[in-house]
Amino acid sequence: MRSQIWDRAPLIHNTQAFIEHLGRLEAQGCRWLVIPLDAAELPGSFKCSKCNSDTGLAALYSIAAHIAFEKEVLRSIEASRSEAEYELQLSRIIEEEATPIVCDTCCPRGTPHRHDLNHAF
Ligand SMILES: [Zn+2]
Ligand SMILES: [Zn+2]
Repeated sequence: MRSQIWDRAPLIHNTQAFIEHLGRLEAQGCRWLVIPLDAAELPGSFKCSKCNSDTGLAALYSIAAHIAFEKEVLRSIEASRSEAEYELQLSRIIEEEATPIVCDTCCPRGTPHRHDLNHAF
């Protein structure tokens, strides 16, 4: 049995930085954040929620909802004494709401674009 000290400082730092980044996007008037799905994490079960396409898929996040989510994540990190405890808390947050999946045609951004980079609009 390994007993490692869980170094959560980098995780806290990264989460805070991401919340600040989202806050800046929101201040610029963005409402949505689109994060492409990594082909490696596609078990073949993901499809565009609008047209059922399975290419160019990305997760569509509401920035306001995502800021609230990341703040929950931050609270979970701070409240956890181990990585296992944190992952348990995290799984409870994630279960609450399904994230819509869009393809590069159905993305509400409108103009044609490829889903190989994160974008906010
Ligand atoms: Zn689509
Ligand atoms: Zn898009």
